[in-house]
Amino acid sequence: MTATTLRFLAIGTLYIVAAAPSTAADRKPTTPPTLTVQVVNLAGVTATELDKAKSEASWIFGKAGVNLNWVHCGSENGDPAGAAPCQDIDDPFVFSMGLVTKSPEFLRDTGFGFAMVYSGQRNHAGVVYPKVAELTRAYPFHASIDQVLAYAMVHEIAHLILGSTAHRPTGIMRAGCRPEELKAVSQRRLRFRSDEVEALHRKLTERSRRLELTGAARIPASKPGTSSPGLY
Ligand SMILES: [Zn+2]
Repeated sequence: MTATTLRFLAIGTLYIVAAAPSTAADRKPTTPPTLTVQVVNLAGVTATELDKAKSEASWIFGKAGVNLNWVHCGSENGDPAGAAPCQDIDDPFVFSMGLVTKSPEFLRDTGFGFAMVYSGQRNHAGVVYPKVAELTRAYPFHASIDQVLAYAMVHEIAHLILGSTAHRPTGIMRAGCRPEELKAVSQRRLRFRSDEVEALHRKLTERSRRLELTGAARIPASKPGTSSPGLY
């Protein structure tokens, strides 16, 4: 196991489940916070599939009033030309998302992914891509694999933001995934609940205060419709 893979060893589980959307959760603050998500693709996810998943994940967080800035980092399977390595900086608004082929060995029943909410910088998470693909194949008429991958990433990033591996009875943070939840994913009915949106922003406010105290350098957000080295 390489050092890169070890960065994503974690605790926490992911199960995808749906719930009725809450329009009250569609929060749009005047100045939405922007998170940078560094993606390490160790699972051979195609660029097209990953682009769709990132777009969908951005849409979900956008509905909660949070912007995502995606950064592509080097992978063990070969990097696209110009890809930049992940920056291991002390920035509470930077998260690392590993797309991996199997769960970390010391974890049991990790479901679709994991989040390091109690170790390291508490900003690393991962999604076990084959498990996402397996579920999608089992119910091909419910949701596409990029949609399920999107929700998996959203679920784990939310764990990191909230600083908890706890699950909720319904919604994105609910444990367990059934065909009806997959259908909700396909219909974009799976969003953050109002109380979860409030919790996300409360936690992000706390991170903003930490940032002010530490004075860490921020990774600049990409502008819509533009690209730069390391961003895709
Ligand atoms: Zn979870």
